[in-house]
Amino acid sequence: MRAYERFLKYISYDTQSDSSAPISSVPSTPKQKLLGAALASELKDLGVQDAYMDEYGYVYGHIPASKGSEALPALALISHMDTAPDMSGADIKARIIKNYTGEDIRLSGEDVPEKDAVYTRVSAYPMLKNYVGQDLIVTDGSTLLGADNKAGIAEIMTLVEFLKSEPTFPHPPLSICFTPDEEIGRSADHIDTEAIRASYGYTVDGGAVGDIQYENFNASTAVLSFRGISAHTGYAKGAMKNSALIAVEFQNMIPADETPANTEGREGFYHLNSIKGKVECTVLEYLIRDFSDEGFKKRKAFISSVADFINMKYGDGTVELTFKDSYSNMLDMITPYPELILNAEKAITEGGALPKSEPIRGGTDGCRLSYMGLPCPNLCAGGQLGHGRHEFVSVQSMDTIVEILKNLVRLFSE
Ligand SMILES: [Zn+2]
Repeated sequence: MRAYERFLKYISYDTQSDSSAPISSVPSTPKQKLLGAALASELKDLGVQDAYMDEYGYVYGHIPASKGSEALPALALISHMDTAPDMSGADIKARIIKNYTGEDIRLSGEDVPEKDAVYTRVSAYPMLKNYVGQDLIVTDGSTLLGADNKAGIAEIMTLVEFLKSEPTFPHPPLSICFTPDEEIGRSADHIDTEAIRASYGYTVDGGAVGDIQYENFNASTAVLSFRGISAHTGYAKGAMKNSALIAVEFQNMIPADETPANTEGREGFYHLNSIKGKVECTVLEYLIRDFSDEGFKKRKAFISSVADFINMKYGDGTVELTFKDSYSNMLDMITPYPELILNAEKAITEGGALPKSEPIRGGTDGCRLSYMGLPCPNLCAGGQLGHGRHEFVSVQSMDTIVEILKNLVRLFSE
């Protein structure tokens, strides 16, 4: 079976995760387990004898090494089953545009009047031109597609099928893992690295063919609570302390050009994510992001120094600052295993594509896994424009990524 055929089957399962579900609900939406159970049984059918889904909805399975490669470190391949909360993933009506010609794509069906029709426009997404001549799987404009990350699952599953049919094809011990709740940042919460039993791996959750990512932001959230004193405005002189004004003063000391809207590539930022407040109490929440350890520490130190200044000016206890670190740059964990990058680049090149690595201006499953003892760069899965109605994946991308995965497992057995 080709990867896209599997893919079309997987997207018939609605596996949207829900960030508002209580932390104790795992997975966040029980429906994810329906796909999990189907994947575990498909793995079994493909000869992965120990495949199972655990109580949290994580699917695990192991493929013994080919003859002669038994002693090599095990390699994990990981994808997530859930789709983003941003848009519905129920009742997806996917359609294949054969031999795409490079025009704007009308997603909506013929029953939708032209004025309401949803288009994916080349002017908005010029990279569509890269897909001329390919067969594109698109939505009908009312849901997302779920290529993020069911394309990855379909590609891994197709590799598993290939290895079953070619038992002498060289590969190290392989570990397969499909997780729920990646889109809400919880997939590493209940992942069982003991069950995975691998030395390193890849999340197959990246974008266009050729992508290999192994750098991501260091991330922290700074919460600043400003205390004020309210008073009747007519008689406030010398009595009122307006916490909202002090918070504004704080923000005005943050470099105006170091925001998400003014930065790209390897540049870090301060992002004022929310303001809540009135005279007595105002709370600012900042997302702090930086690729380098040193830059990250400097940003946190800067926020602290501005808070200190405010306390010096308006009195101790005027502002209280807490940091909550969320994830770290995986690069430090990947560097000791250069083969993870070298083999990926080689596998991509052999697959006829161009390896491309750009730092992820965010985090992945893999960056948390990398700090849990499972170094995990992120490899392309082929999907584009994830989390929304314009999401698409090309049939040929998926085929190529299956070839890349074959090359990859072979390279790890050399
Ligand atoms: Zn994803």
